[in-house]
Amino acid sequence: MVDDMMDFLAEVRDRPVWQQIPPSVLGQLQEPCPEGPSPAAEVYRRFREEILPFAHGNISPRFWGLVNGSGSATGMLAEMLAAGMNCNSGFGEQAAVHVEAQVLVWMRGWFGFPAQGSGSLVGGCSVANFLGLAAARNSMTGSDVATRGLQAEAQAIRVYGSSETHSSVVRGLEMLGMGAESFVAIPCNEGFEVDVDCLQERIRADRATGLRPIAVVANAGTVNTGATDDLQALGALCRAEDLWLHVDGAFGAMAALAPGLRDRLAGIEAADSIAFDLHKWLHVPYDCGAVLLRDKAEGPGPFPMRGAYLSPVPSGIATGPVSFMQQGLQMSRGFRALKVWFTLQEHGAAKLGRLVQQNVDQAAYLADRIDAHPALERRAPAPLNIVCFRFVRPGAPEEELDAINRAILVKLHHDGIAVPSHTVLHGRFCLRTAVTNHRSRREDFDVLVDAVARLGTAAD
Ligand SMILES: *Cc1c(COP(=O)(O)O)cnc(C)c1O
Repeated sequence: MVDDMMDFLAEVRDRPVWQQIPPSVLGQLQEPCPEGPSPAAEVYRRFREEILPFAHGNISPRFWGLVNGSGSATGMLAEMLAAGMNCNSGFGEQAAVHVEAQVLVWMRGWFGFPAQGSGSLVGGCSVANFLGLAAARNSMTGSDVATRGLQAEAQAIRVYGSSETHSSVVRGLEMLGMGAESFVAIPCNEGFEVDVDCLQERIRADRATGLRPIAVVANAGTVNTGATDDLQALGALCRAEDLWLHVDGAFGAMAALAPGLRDRLAGIEAADSIAFDLHKWLHVPYDCGAVLLRDKAEGPGPFPMRGAYLSPVPSGIATGPVSFMQQGLQMSRGFRALKVWFTLQEHGAAKLGRLVQQNVDQAAYLADRIDAHPALERRAPAPLNIVCFRFVRPGAPEEELDAINRAILVKLHHDGIAVPSHTVLHGRFCLRTAVTNHRSRREDFDVLVDAVARLGTAAD
């Protein structure tokens, strides 16, 4: 299995980026639960034939859809080792807990956070955003929300972020009982960064009408265009207004590793919480995100857990440096930290930062090629690693261009040529290329540009 998977990774460039699961294969997968055993070799044969060929495609060098990481061979092996150890890293005096505590200290250093503070590895940035907002809610509301619930709040809560804020933030507010209406979307400037003056005015106006602002969500790399809000200005505003500053840096926070990009995150050190992914731009295999809280919560953690079976003992297996189950929602949890530790040990933070820079340079190359192409049009600034563009034909009505570009997208996917995804900017459909892929080379972007132009012309 290890040899086959190594070949699978080595040959990734030669396969189509993606292929549809045929109905016959789907039919085989949708079988009843097996009552009896099968030989492991037979189960593995089925894996190779029915599952492996129909992957999402994100390890391919020409996958730039949504924001997906591309993993690594060592990350894969680390997953195997972690599964072999099968540690429950919720708490305890064990290496898994010490390793997680240590990688969190390293990551705190990337953002200029004090070495000691709360936080944990989680399933992804959606969970990390949720936990950052939960900590904000518990710390910033007037009453003891954890005990009495939001019913005890006299004033309706408000959380602010730009109109480009990721949907996981609003979903988190829904799940936290604050409701989607507690999120106030503030307009952006031309660069899709939050308009700080507008935010300031809105906070004052909301206070004047009896609402209770508690937090600002800043974007370090928006999902649509890769924009980064002015973190310094937002930090100053949050200090002046006594608000919690949460940074959603799902992929953009990894700019901290690249010396040429680090400046854009100036001010992140003043945040109260940072959420980001390791499975996107650090190439750690799925799934792995992190939430870091600037300060160490009092007591066992920001989300305390009670139970006679958890009461302290002087030493032995039930002690340990951090109780991770009190840092988030999961009690039982796997050894996610091992693949992060392996990735950082094998490559070092400097090389991972160079890979971030390489992707940013590739996005700039793609943007230049689009700008120079008569049949292509860029739809947004490309400040980081995301390029939004479309095929254009002079005189064609907007609706027709939307339809042509939608057809181009579907054809690119079905022919297995490349996987950009799509978005809508200023009301118009466009192709969206998010480069967080260490396997991509410049010629891969030439393939994309040529294919979009060819397919668009053929659709005329
Ligand atoms: C991907 C992303 C998220 C959600 O992260 P998951 O790991 O998919 O849960 C949140 N915010 C931004 C800006 C993202 O790009």
